[in-house]
Amino acid sequence: LYNMVQDLKGNIRVYCRIRPIFNEEARSIVDFIGQDDSLVISDPSKPQREGRKIFKFNKVFGPTSSQNDIYADTQPLIRSVMDGYNVCIFAYGQTGSGKTHTMSCPSGGLANDMGINHLALNDLFHLSSMRKDIAEYEIQVQMVEIYNEQVRDLLAEDSSNTKYPFMLKLLEIRSCTADGGLSLPDATMHSVKSTADVIKLMKLGDDNRVISSTVLNNRSSRSHSILTVHVSGKDISGCTLRSCLHLIDLAGSERVDKSEVTGERLKEAQYINKSLSCLGDVITSLAQKNSHIPYRNSKLTLLLQHSLGGHAKTLMFAHINPERDSFGETISTLKFAQRVSSV
Ligand code: ADP
Ligand code: MG
Repeated sequence: LYNMVQDLKGNIRVYCRIRPIFNEEARSIVDFIGQDDSLVISDPSKPQREGRKIFKFNKVFGPTSSQNDIYADTQPLIRSVMDGYNVCIFAYGQTGSGKTHTMSCPSGGLANDMGINHLALNDLFHLSSMRKDIAEYEIQVQMVEIYNEQVRDLLAEDSSNTKYPFMLKLLEIRSCTADGGLSLPDATMHSVKSTADVIKLMKLGDDNRVISSTVLNNRSSRSHSILTVHVSGKDISGCTLRSCLHLIDLAGSERVDKSEVTGERLKEAQYINKSLSCLGDVITSLAQKNSHIPYRNSKLTLLLQHSLGGHAKTLMFAHINPERDSFGETISTLKFAQRVSSV
Protein backbone atom coordinates (compact mmCIF):
# COMPACT_ATOMS: atom_id res chain seq x y z
CA LEU A 1 0.00 0.00 0.00
CA TYR A 2 2.79 2.40 0.90
CA ASN A 3 4.26 1.51 -2.39
CA MET A 4 1.09 2.13 -4.38
CA VAL A 5 0.94 5.66 -3.03
CA GLN A 6 4.60 6.10 -3.91
CA ASP A 7 4.30 4.72 -7.41
CA LEU A 8 1.87 7.42 -8.32
CA LYS A 9 4.56 9.97 -7.64
CA GLY A 10 7.44 8.36 -9.54
CA ASN A 11 10.77 7.13 -8.24
CA ILE A 12 12.71 10.38 -8.05
CA ARG A 13 11.50 13.22 -5.92
CA VAL A 14 13.04 16.55 -5.04
CA TYR A 15 12.00 18.61 -2.05
CA CYS A 16 13.31 22.07 -1.26
CA ARG A 17 13.80 23.20 2.34
CA ILE A 18 14.38 26.84 3.21
CA ARG A 19 16.33 27.48 6.40
CA PRO A 20 15.15 30.21 8.79
CA ILE A 21 17.06 33.48 8.84
CA PHE A 22 18.83 33.96 12.17
CA ASN A 23 19.80 37.60 11.73
CA GLU A 24 16.61 39.57 12.33
CA GLU A 25 17.79 42.50 10.25
CA ALA A 26 18.36 40.40 7.15
CA ARG A 27 15.75 40.16 4.43
CA SER A 28 14.98 36.86 2.74
CA ILE A 29 15.65 36.49 -0.96
CA VAL A 30 12.70 34.09 -1.10
CA ASP A 31 9.82 36.29 -2.24
CA PHE A 32 7.08 33.79 -2.36
CA ILE A 33 6.22 30.14 -1.80
CA GLY A 34 3.29 28.98 -3.93
CA GLN A 35 0.54 26.51 -3.03
CA ASP A 36 1.77 24.47 -5.99
CA ASP A 37 5.23 24.02 -4.41
CA SER A 38 6.91 26.68 -6.44
CA LEU A 39 9.15 29.36 -5.02
CA VAL A 40 10.21 32.76 -6.25
CA ILE A 41 13.71 34.08 -5.59
CA SER A 42 14.70 37.67 -6.16
CA ASP A 43 18.20 38.86 -6.96
CA PRO A 44 19.03 41.46 -4.30
CA SER A 45 21.29 43.34 -6.71
CA LYS A 46 18.59 43.91 -9.31
CA PRO A 47 15.33 45.84 -9.43
CA GLN A 48 12.46 43.66 -8.22
CA ARG A 49 10.93 42.63 -11.51
CA GLU A 50 14.11 41.86 -13.40
CA GLY A 51 15.76 39.74 -10.77
CA ARG A 52 12.98 37.23 -10.21
CA LYS A 53 13.38 33.55 -10.81
CA ILE A 54 10.84 30.82 -10.30
CA PHE A 55 11.49 27.17 -9.40
CA LYS A 56 9.14 24.29 -8.84
CA PHE A 57 9.63 21.08 -6.89
CA ASN A 58 7.67 18.11 -5.61
CA LYS A 59 7.47 19.93 -2.31
CA VAL A 60 8.70 23.21 -0.87
CA PHE A 61 9.15 23.58 2.90
CA GLY A 62 9.33 27.13 4.21
CA PRO A 63 11.45 28.32 7.14
CA THR A 64 8.73 27.58 9.69
CA SER A 65 8.35 23.93 8.68
CA SER A 66 9.09 21.56 11.51
CA GLN A 67 11.06 18.33 11.50
CA ASN A 68 7.74 16.49 11.77
CA ASP A 69 6.35 18.31 8.72
CA ILE A 70 9.38 17.15 6.80
CA TYR A 71 9.06 13.61 8.05
CA ALA A 72 5.36 13.38 7.22
CA ASP A 73 6.31 13.65 3.54
CA THR A 74 9.23 11.24 3.89
CA GLN A 75 7.54 8.49 5.86
CA PRO A 76 5.86 6.61 2.96
CA LEU A 77 9.29 6.18 1.39
CA ILE A 78 10.78 4.83 4.61
CA ARG A 79 7.92 2.42 4.94
CA SER A 80 8.44 1.05 1.45
CA VAL A 81 11.87 -0.15 2.66
CA MET A 82 9.97 -2.68 4.80
CA ASP A 83 8.33 -3.95 1.63
CA GLY A 84 11.66 -4.67 -0.02
CA TYR A 85 12.46 -1.41 -1.82
CA ASN A 86 15.88 0.26 -1.75
CA VAL A 87 15.74 3.93 -0.88
CA CYS A 88 18.27 6.78 -0.98
CA ILE A 89 17.65 10.06 0.79
CA PHE A 90 20.12 12.85 0.04
CA ALA A 91 20.66 16.16 1.81
CA TYR A 92 22.15 18.64 -0.68
CA GLY A 93 23.12 22.28 -0.18
CA GLN A 94 25.89 24.68 0.74
CA THR A 95 27.51 24.45 4.17
CA GLY A 96 25.22 26.03 6.76
CA SER A 97 22.02 25.52 4.76
CA GLY A 98 20.57 22.91 7.13
CA LYS A 99 21.55 19.50 5.72
CA THR A 100 22.61 17.99 9.03
CA HIS A 101 19.61 19.58 10.75
CA THR A 102 17.27 17.75 8.36
CA MET A 103 19.04 14.41 8.60
CA SER A 104 20.18 14.14 12.23
CA CYS A 105 19.27 15.39 15.61
CA PRO A 106 20.86 18.86 15.85
CA SER A 107 23.78 18.63 18.25
CA GLY A 108 22.47 19.51 21.66
CA GLY A 109 19.08 19.73 20.02
CA LEU A 110 15.79 18.98 21.63
CA ALA A 111 14.41 15.50 21.56
CA ASN A 112 11.41 16.77 19.60
CA ASP A 113 13.68 18.22 16.96
CA MET A 114 14.86 14.85 15.74
CA GLY A 115 15.76 14.57 12.08
CA ILE A 116 14.97 11.99 9.44
CA ASN A 117 17.61 9.47 10.57
CA HIS A 118 16.04 9.10 13.98
CA LEU A 119 12.42 9.30 12.93
CA ALA A 120 13.02 6.77 10.15
CA LEU A 121 14.65 4.28 12.49
CA ASN A 122 11.90 4.71 15.07
CA ASP A 123 9.45 3.90 12.33
CA LEU A 124 11.35 0.86 11.07
CA PHE A 125 11.56 -0.61 14.56
CA HIS A 126 7.91 0.21 15.18
CA LEU A 127 6.77 -1.45 11.95
CA SER A 128 8.88 -4.51 12.56
CA SER A 129 7.35 -5.01 15.98
CA MET A 130 3.86 -4.48 14.55
CA ARG A 131 4.48 -7.15 11.96
CA LYS A 132 6.18 -9.58 14.27
CA ASP A 133 3.42 -12.18 13.90
CA ILE A 134 3.82 -12.36 10.15
CA ALA A 135 7.51 -11.69 9.62
CA GLU A 136 10.79 -11.53 11.45
CA TYR A 137 12.90 -8.50 10.68
CA GLU A 138 16.57 -7.93 11.27
CA ILE A 139 18.05 -4.44 11.11
CA GLN A 140 21.76 -3.71 10.70
CA VAL A 141 23.67 -0.53 10.00
CA GLN A 142 26.90 0.60 8.35
CA MET A 143 28.26 4.12 8.37
CA VAL A 144 30.97 5.41 6.05
CA GLU A 145 32.31 8.67 4.73
CA ILE A 146 33.65 9.53 1.31
CA TYR A 147 36.43 12.07 1.44
CA ASN A 148 38.57 12.89 -1.60
CA GLU A 149 37.09 9.88 -3.37
CA GLN A 150 38.22 7.55 -0.61
CA VAL A 151 35.69 5.53 1.35
CA ARG A 152 36.29 5.05 5.06
CA ASP A 153 34.49 3.04 7.70
CA LEU A 154 33.32 5.35 10.47
CA LEU A 155 32.35 2.46 12.73
CA ALA A 156 35.36 0.17 12.58
CA GLU A 157 36.51 -1.01 16.00
CA ASP A 158 40.01 0.36 15.73
CA SER A 159 38.68 3.75 14.62
CA SER A 160 37.99 4.45 18.30
CA ASN A 161 41.72 4.99 18.35
CA THR A 162 41.39 8.76 18.57
CA LYS A 163 45.10 9.31 18.34
CA TYR A 164 45.27 8.11 14.76
CA PRO A 165 42.16 9.27 12.97
CA PHE A 166 43.84 8.69 9.64
CA MET A 167 43.89 5.03 10.45
CA LEU A 168 40.15 4.97 9.75
CA LYS A 169 39.92 1.91 7.59
CA LEU A 170 39.90 2.46 3.84
CA LEU A 171 37.28 0.45 1.99
CA GLU A 172 36.96 -1.00 -1.48
CA ILE A 173 33.63 -0.85 -3.28
CA ARG A 174 32.45 -4.06 -4.86
CA SER A 175 30.55 -2.94 -7.92
CA CYS A 176 29.27 -6.29 -9.21
CA THR A 177 27.23 -7.56 -6.34
CA ALA A 178 24.90 -10.45 -6.89
CA ASP A 179 21.35 -9.99 -5.61
CA GLY A 180 21.45 -8.96 -2.01
CA GLY A 181 25.24 -8.63 -2.03
CA LEU A 182 26.87 -5.74 -0.26
CA SER A 183 28.66 -2.98 -2.09
CA LEU A 184 30.92 -2.47 0.95
CA PRO A 185 31.52 -5.98 2.25
CA ASP A 186 34.38 -4.82 4.48
CA ALA A 187 32.56 -2.03 6.26
CA THR A 188 31.65 -3.16 9.74
CA MET A 189 28.04 -4.22 10.09
CA HIS A 190 26.25 -3.57 13.37
CA SER A 191 23.06 -5.29 14.44
CA VAL A 192 20.68 -2.89 16.11
CA LYS A 193 17.60 -3.49 18.20
CA SER A 194 16.47 0.04 18.93
CA THR A 195 16.86 3.64 17.82
CA ALA A 196 19.03 4.18 20.88
CA ASP A 197 21.50 1.60 19.55
CA VAL A 198 21.69 3.49 16.28
CA ILE A 199 22.07 6.87 17.96
CA LYS A 200 25.02 5.49 19.90
CA LEU A 201 26.67 4.25 16.71
CA MET A 202 25.99 7.50 14.89
CA LYS A 203 27.60 9.38 17.73
CA LEU A 204 30.70 7.23 17.37
CA GLY A 205 30.68 7.79 13.61
CA ASP A 206 30.25 11.55 14.03
CA ASP A 207 33.04 11.66 16.59
CA ASN A 208 35.32 9.90 14.15
CA ARG A 209 34.49 12.47 11.48
CA VAL A 210 35.02 15.39 13.82
CA ILE A 211 38.34 14.07 15.04
CA SER A 212 39.64 13.95 11.51
CA SER A 213 38.25 17.42 10.78
CA THR A 214 40.36 19.25 13.30
CA VAL A 215 43.42 18.03 11.48
CA LEU A 216 42.17 18.39 7.97
CA ASN A 217 40.33 21.70 8.22
CA ASN A 218 36.63 21.20 8.81
CA ARG A 219 36.58 17.95 6.99
CA SER A 220 33.08 17.03 8.10
CA SER A 221 31.54 19.53 5.69
CA ARG A 222 33.97 18.40 2.99
CA SER A 223 32.96 14.75 3.00
CA HIS A 224 29.81 12.79 2.29
CA SER A 225 28.52 10.73 5.17
CA ILE A 226 26.38 7.71 4.47
CA LEU A 227 24.37 5.80 7.04
CA THR A 228 23.06 2.59 5.50
CA VAL A 229 20.29 0.67 7.19
CA HIS A 230 19.97 -2.93 5.98
CA VAL A 231 16.59 -4.51 6.57
CA SER A 232 15.93 -8.18 6.08
CA GLY A 233 12.53 -9.67 6.70
CA LYS A 234 11.69 -13.34 6.76
CA ASP A 235 8.02 -14.24 6.52
CA ILE A 236 6.32 -17.36 7.87
CA SER A 237 6.81 -19.24 4.60
CA GLY A 238 10.56 -18.71 4.99
CA CYS A 239 10.77 -16.13 2.20
CA THR A 240 13.38 -13.45 2.82
CA LEU A 241 13.14 -9.89 1.60
CA ARG A 242 16.22 -7.68 1.72
CA SER A 243 16.45 -3.97 1.19
CA CYS A 244 18.38 -0.99 2.33
CA LEU A 245 17.90 2.63 3.19
CA HIS A 246 20.78 5.04 2.58
CA LEU A 247 20.70 8.30 4.50
CA ILE A 248 23.24 10.65 2.96
CA ASP A 249 24.49 13.96 4.32
CA LEU A 250 26.38 15.31 1.30
CA ALA A 251 29.47 17.50 1.37
CA GLY A 252 28.78 21.24 1.12
CA SER A 253 27.98 22.17 -2.48
CA GLU A 254 29.57 25.66 -2.35
CA ARG A 255 31.94 26.53 -5.16
CA VAL A 256 35.33 27.70 -4.05
CA ASP A 257 37.12 30.45 -5.87
CA LYS A 258 39.92 28.62 -7.63
CA SER A 259 42.08 31.72 -7.76
CA GLU A 260 42.13 31.89 -3.97
CA VAL A 261 42.50 28.25 -3.12
CA THR A 262 45.47 26.00 -3.49
CA GLY A 263 46.79 22.65 -2.35
CA GLU A 264 44.70 20.36 -0.20
CA ARG A 265 41.69 22.66 -0.18
CA LEU A 266 41.60 22.90 -3.96
CA LYS A 267 41.85 19.14 -4.28
CA GLU A 268 38.96 18.69 -1.83
CA ALA A 269 36.86 21.18 -3.76
CA GLN A 270 37.51 19.46 -7.06
CA TYR A 271 36.59 16.07 -5.64
CA ILE A 272 33.37 17.40 -4.18
CA ASN A 273 32.46 19.19 -7.38
CA LYS A 274 33.05 16.12 -9.41
CA SER A 275 31.11 13.75 -7.18
CA LEU A 276 28.11 16.07 -6.85
CA SER A 277 27.92 16.63 -10.58
CA CYS A 278 28.23 12.87 -11.16
CA LEU A 279 25.35 12.34 -8.80
CA GLY A 280 23.33 14.86 -10.80
CA ASP A 281 24.26 13.09 -14.05
CA VAL A 282 23.26 9.68 -12.72
CA ILE A 283 19.88 10.85 -11.45
CA THR A 284 19.19 12.73 -14.68
CA SER A 285 20.15 9.75 -16.86
CA LEU A 286 17.93 7.49 -14.78
CA ALA A 287 15.00 9.85 -15.15
CA GLN A 288 15.60 9.99 -18.90
CA LYS A 289 15.81 6.19 -18.98
CA ASN A 290 19.15 6.33 -20.80
CA SER A 291 20.74 3.01 -21.62
CA HIS A 292 24.06 4.03 -20.09
CA ILE A 293 24.06 5.30 -16.51
CA PRO A 294 27.46 6.77 -15.53
CA TYR A 295 27.64 5.12 -12.08
CA ARG A 296 31.37 4.56 -12.37
CA ASN A 297 32.28 8.22 -12.55
CA SER A 298 32.32 8.70 -8.77
CA LYS A 299 32.68 6.62 -5.63
CA LEU A 300 29.35 7.89 -4.32
CA THR A 301 27.33 6.72 -7.33
CA LEU A 302 29.28 3.46 -7.60
CA LEU A 303 28.58 2.70 -3.97
CA LEU A 304 24.87 3.47 -4.39
CA GLN A 305 24.58 1.83 -7.79
CA HIS A 306 22.11 -0.84 -6.67
CA SER A 307 19.99 1.62 -4.75
CA LEU A 308 19.64 4.17 -7.54
CA GLY A 309 17.46 3.24 -10.49
CA GLY A 310 15.52 0.06 -11.10
CA HIS A 311 12.81 -0.21 -8.49
CA ALA A 312 14.72 1.93 -6.05
CA LYS A 313 13.40 5.24 -4.81
CA THR A 314 15.30 8.47 -4.46
CA LEU A 315 14.52 11.60 -2.52
CA MET A 316 16.69 14.67 -2.59
CA PHE A 317 16.34 17.58 -0.20
CA ALA A 318 17.77 20.77 -1.70
CA HIS A 319 18.59 23.08 1.20
CA ILE A 320 18.82 26.81 0.84
CA ASN A 321 19.91 29.59 3.12
CA PRO A 322 17.68 32.53 2.15
CA GLU A 323 20.11 35.24 3.23
CA ARG A 324 21.24 37.81 0.70
CA ASP A 325 24.90 36.81 0.81
CA SER A 326 23.99 33.30 -0.26
CA PHE A 327 22.13 34.36 -3.40
CA GLY A 328 24.69 32.87 -5.82
CA GLU A 329 24.89 29.54 -3.99
CA THR A 330 21.12 29.41 -3.60
CA ILE A 331 20.58 29.81 -7.33
CA SER A 332 23.14 27.14 -8.09
CA THR A 333 21.54 24.74 -5.57
CA LEU A 334 18.09 25.37 -7.05
CA LYS A 335 19.38 24.86 -10.59
CA PHE A 336 21.02 21.60 -9.61
CA ALA A 337 17.82 20.45 -7.90
CA GLN A 338 15.69 21.52 -10.85
CA ARG A 339 17.94 19.59 -13.20
CA VAL A 340 17.51 16.34 -11.28
CA SER A 341 13.77 16.81 -10.82
CA SER A 342 12.32 18.34 -13.92
CA VAL A 343 13.12 15.63 -16.42
P1 ADP B 1 24.82 22.07 7.12
O1 ADP B 1 24.80 20.69 7.65
O2 ADP B 1 24.14 22.20 5.78
O3 ADP B 1 26.19 22.67 7.08
P2 ADP B 1 23.45 22.70 9.56
O4 ADP B 1 22.37 21.66 9.55
O5 ADP B 1 24.60 22.46 10.44
O6 ADP B 1 23.95 23.00 8.08
O7 ADP B 1 22.75 24.09 9.88
C1 ADP B 1 23.45 25.26 10.18
C2 ADP B 1 22.84 25.91 11.42
O8 ADP B 1 21.50 26.29 11.17
C3 ADP B 1 22.79 24.95 12.59
O9 ADP B 1 23.04 25.69 13.77
C4 ADP B 1 21.37 24.44 12.57
O10 ADP B 1 20.91 24.03 13.84
C5 ADP B 1 20.59 25.64 12.05
N1 ADP B 1 19.42 25.23 11.25
C6 ADP B 1 19.47 24.71 10.02
N2 ADP B 1 18.23 24.47 9.55
C7 ADP B 1 17.37 24.84 10.52
C8 ADP B 1 15.95 24.81 10.65
N3 ADP B 1 15.15 24.36 9.66
N4 ADP B 1 15.41 25.29 11.81
C9 ADP B 1 16.21 25.74 12.79
N5 ADP B 1 17.55 25.79 12.74
C10 ADP B 1 18.14 25.34 11.62
MG1 MG C 1 26.43 19.46 8.15
